[in-house]
Amino acid sequence: MPELPEVETVMRGLARVLEGRRLVAASIARPDMRWPFPDGLVTRLTGARVLGFRRRAKYMLMRVEGGDSLLIHLGMSGRMVARRAADRPNEPVAHEHFAMETEDGTHVGFVDPRRFGSVDLVASAREDQHRLLAGLGPEPLEDAFTAEVLSQALAGKRTPIKAALLDQKLVAGLGNIYVSEALHRSGISPRREASTVAGSRCVRLVPAIKAVLEESIAAGGSSLRDYVQADGGIGFFQERFRVYDRAGLACEQCPGVPPCPGIQRIVQSGRASFYCPRHQR
Ligand SMILES: [Zn+2]
Repeated sequence: MPELPEVETVMRGLARVLEGRRLVAASIARPDMRWPFPDGLVTRLTGARVLGFRRRAKYMLMRVEGGDSLLIHLGMSGRMVARRAADRPNEPVAHEHFAMETEDGTHVGFVDPRRFGSVDLVASAREDQHRLLAGLGPEPLEDAFTAEVLSQALAGKRTPIKAALLDQKLVAGLGNIYVSEALHRSGISPRREASTVAGSRCVRLVPAIKAVLEESIAAGGSSLRDYVQADGGIGFFQERFRVYDRAGLACEQCPGVPPCPGIQRIVQSGRASFYCPRHQR
């Protein structure tokens, strides 16, 4: 599933081709994706100018003239594919469920074979009150996300720190990859009880979360299975994973240390965690 850096990258790609442009067409190819398309979606987008984009957790919000914002979630395998409208394929594009076309001839299609993705409309003035956004925790890259804030959120939590960081109410936008990488960098075991990370360990963990997200955004996100940027390019952060999906490989942070058994894979709450049992405690 795309995580924060991948969504940020896709959003920047969409902004490049859509921001400031008028939409001359919008279309849906079926009544629903994960949820039904909202009433009036096509008529409310058609003719409206795109004013701007923002990201909240793993959601993209596209503000348009008329007071609406389009809320987009890529789900597990959703892709936003941009091409010149003039290069129209002869056949309908497989799994393209929703599309927009700009006055300057760009076609943007939402392609999602598994249909876990979704599109909704929300009043621009009340974006954060949308049912999918209302309960989200702080954005990890904002200055307001500090060691103190995370410490307070973890206090008294008996769950493993891995599970706590995946909880979108605690911090928004993190998934399996970036939680694994941030815990590795900060030397914290994914199995450690969350309450014991509060305090000094948060002073290491919060900068590690921000660094790993920022580095991934700079690399264009990580390319895993279905994820592609809006311009068709792919990200390269997966080449810099230090722990995620590296079971059995040596830990770069423990160079030449004989007792280091290398990266281990364990399963927590039904999902894989990767960690170095020597330096992550
Ligand atoms: Zn190590």
